[in-house]
Amino acid sequence: MANSQINSFILYLKIRAKAYIYKTRHPSFGCGVWSPMLKIRFHGRGGQGVKTSSRILGRAAFLDGFVAQDSPIYGAERRGAPVISFTRISKTPITERGFIFDPDIVIVMDETLLNDWLARPLDGVKKGGAVFVNAQPGFPPPEGHDDKFFITYDLTGRALEILGKPIISSPSAAAAAKITGLITKSSVLEATADELAELDLKDELLEKNIQLAAEVYDAIPSPVINTEESGSITREISPLDYEPVTYEEVIHLDIANLGNSALRRTGNWRIFKPVVDPEKCTGCMVCIIYCPDSCITLNENNKAVIDYDNCKGCMICLRECPLRAISSVREVRVYA
Ligand code: SF4
Ligand code: SF4
Repeated sequence: MANSQINSFILYLKIRAKAYIYKTRHPSFGCGVWSPMLKIRFHGRGGQGVKTSSRILGRAAFLDGFVAQDSPIYGAERRGAPVISFTRISKTPITERGFIFDPDIVIVMDETLLNDWLARPLDGVKKGGAVFVNAQPGFPPPEGHDDKFFITYDLTGRALEILGKPIISSPSAAAAAKITGLITKSSVLEATADELAELDLKDELLEKNIQLAAEVYDAIPSPVINTEESGSITREISPLDYEPVTYEEVIHLDIANLGNSALRRTGNWRIFKPVVDPEKCTGCMVCIIYCPDSCITLNENNKAVIDYDNCKGCMICLRECPLRAISSVREVRVYA
């Protein structure tokens, strides 16, 4: 027998052995409760690592002997814009494709998405399913969802402490893996290393990501997920509500005008908030020229003023200000 055939046979035996171990540990998997597959939906914002999270989870599931599929969905790439990605895990070939409308598990990588009328991350989550929310301590579970498990952890806070960046792909994948109750820590860490190495991360940052993923995996509980197929699936597409413009406004339209959708205020996209120091600001207007959302104006004292309803926190203004008059402050949401 050729070496490659022997290796394939050994791999086959390993997969069968792992599948056997999981079947004995999780008798419900594939036997009617989650049959035929476990569906995980990630909701985050551009720049948080949403797509990579679902890839790490899918790879980890594969390493543990499951069939896995992952895919993202997003529009024009914009930092801060809502992004979704999906992972399906099964014991048998997956023929379903596309959007997951009825997830068993939802990972909300930014709690402000819970109030985003278009993102609607809780839509369709099955009864008995689990929702993980990346939120600061004290976050209250949303009302009307008593039939689901809510788990929270401040992933952004820990990512800032360990990585120095608010990128949470590895800890989000680790949280999802732990919540499934199926995926081993070693597989999540191996998948994290593999996926991030493909993104050419430096060794030091890669190791920190693995450290963070391991911490989150250990800290997150693994609830017994017992979903019902009759979950509150919502598939209707609601029309956008917008503020109509008048004829007068149309003929005087300015290229720098803000979008007029009442539901598209981008102020809740921010993880960091730009803050102008009026003592340093000279009113040079460089930030006004560079702000992609026309959120900055000068006040009567010739100082830059930011429209926080629409500022999405891209921090281009901070980078461009020649006087270093703009600083970055993390958005803190305090829960009673
Ligand atoms: S670029 Fe800096 S100094 Fe110039 S207006 Fe903006 S905040 Fe002020
Ligand atoms: S004000 Fe600054 S952070 Fe906000 S959208 Fe404009 S450039 Fe980005």
